[in-house]
Amino acid sequence: MTHAPARPEADYRALPGPVQDAFTALMEQADTAGTTDHFLTLMARAASLIGMPLPPSGDIRRCACSCVCGCIFDAEDPGAHVIEHGEGYNLGRVQCPTCADWHPETA
Ligand SMILES: [Zn+2]
Ligand SMILES: [Zn+2]
Repeated sequence: MTHAPARPEADYRALPGPVQDAFTALMEQADTAGTTDHFLTLMARAASLIGMPLPPSGDIRRCACSCVCGCIFDAEDPGAHVIEHGEGYNLGRVQCPTCADWHPETA
């Protein structure tokens, strides 16, 4: 028996166009969600839309690196790098763990 991959991740660029658009729309709604429940519902919908298991944090994010990275990952992964903190329920900008290693960006 092997262990599941350490972190749930998806590749935005590998998604069909309409799914990319729907994912982006859900992220925009989450950005302006007024309650934790609403926020988590939108995150769960976004994860199921792209077929990614929702991490325990309930918070997924597309990599905000300036490279072409399309990684969608657990925003609370210890390896992720926060470029800009969100305010309230607003989404901050977070780099995926791979980018945090390979192209570090300062705030
Ligand atoms: Zn990345
Ligand atoms: Zn990058």
